Amino acid sequence: MWTKRLYCQPLLPIPYPLSYVPNPLYAPRFRLATLDFRMASISSSPVSGYRGRLAPSPTGYLHVGHARTFWTAFQHARDAGGTLVMRMEDLDAERSRTNFADAAMEDLRWLGIRWQEGPDKGGPFAPYVQSKRRALYLAAWRKLLSRGCLFACRCSRKDVDSALVAPHERVQSETRGSKLDILDDEPIYPGTCRHLIGHAPQLPGPTSVDIEKPDGINWRFRVCDGEAIEFVDGNLGPQRFVAGVDFGDFIVWRRDGGPSYQLACVVDDAAMRMTEVVRGADLLKSTARQILLNRALGFENPAWYHCRLVVDHNGWRLAKRHDALSLRALRQRGLTPMNILAAELPVET
Ligand SMILES: [Zn+2]
Repeated sequence: MWTKRLYCQPLLPIPYPLSYVPNPLYAPRFRLATLDFRMASISSSPVSGYRGRLAPSPTGYLHVGHARTFWTAFQHARDAGGTLVMRMEDLDAERSRTNFADAAMEDLRWLGIRWQEGPDKGGPFAPYVQSKRRALYLAAWRKLLSRGCLFACRCSRKDVDSALVAPHERVQSETRGSKLDILDDEPIYPGTCRHLIGHAPQLPGPTSVDIEKPDGINWRFRVCDGEAIEFVDGNLGPQRFVAGVDFGDFIVWRRDGGPSYQLACVVDDAAMRMTEVVRGADLLKSTARQILLNRALGFENPAWYHCRLVVDHNGWRLAKRHDALSLRALRQRGLTPMNILAAELPVET
């Protein structure tokens, strides 16, 4: 296989941070990351059992941070001679758009990323769009309920927030504007409805639960306070999170009628036989929760590999507001995939 590692700087004038100039004031906060950008393509017929995935949320255009994480996922699958799966995570019905899903796949193809299974290709584990996989999530919810792992919770997000989050923290969380806000930064649940295990509030007992319809109330997974969840991340090394301290009882089914990200993710990763999950470091705490879900559901854990997040010049994680750093915008400015993937970018430490 012909390979070449490229260290070139972008050839055209481009917006910060692709044209990052070290700032002595902020330099110590950054670790500059480069990608191994090799001109090789993934084999069309896998030679190993490795299975990885690309799982974009179609709620906006992909930015340079996504590009680098997805490139890493592609590289792992390619180097392993395995299979890469495209899975569209469109459970946020309010914000998900078909045109963003199409744009995400087009942008990734433009970067040179190829996958063997997905909404556009089909495959043995179709459908590859989460909004069409509700029956699987419902079955998992039922299994968790029957195993006594869940309780119904009447608290609103506002109730939980106001009980636990200091105002300045809330402001910071809102300004981040990333997937993180609703996932890793989910406030620690105060335990208000914990005693209602296995049945809905104001109902006389477990038999009153309509197990066909979890909708209309939040269902939370009860964690064991003080339990340490440890795993070794392929990129970031040993990780340790403590239930009740780093995260609390988390939502697995939302009152508005759908599974949470955590539940859908573990169900799909198990059903699609993922052997490694490559994603952003904003999901590290989600991994701890997903390890608990995997254990409760009898699923094996995949290997984990969390990529450091690209940040802007203020050290903030990239989000939808960084329009100038969307792959669309950079492509329109004349940048090539090589410019984007081989550039040195500041990352969160
Ligand atoms: Zn509650």
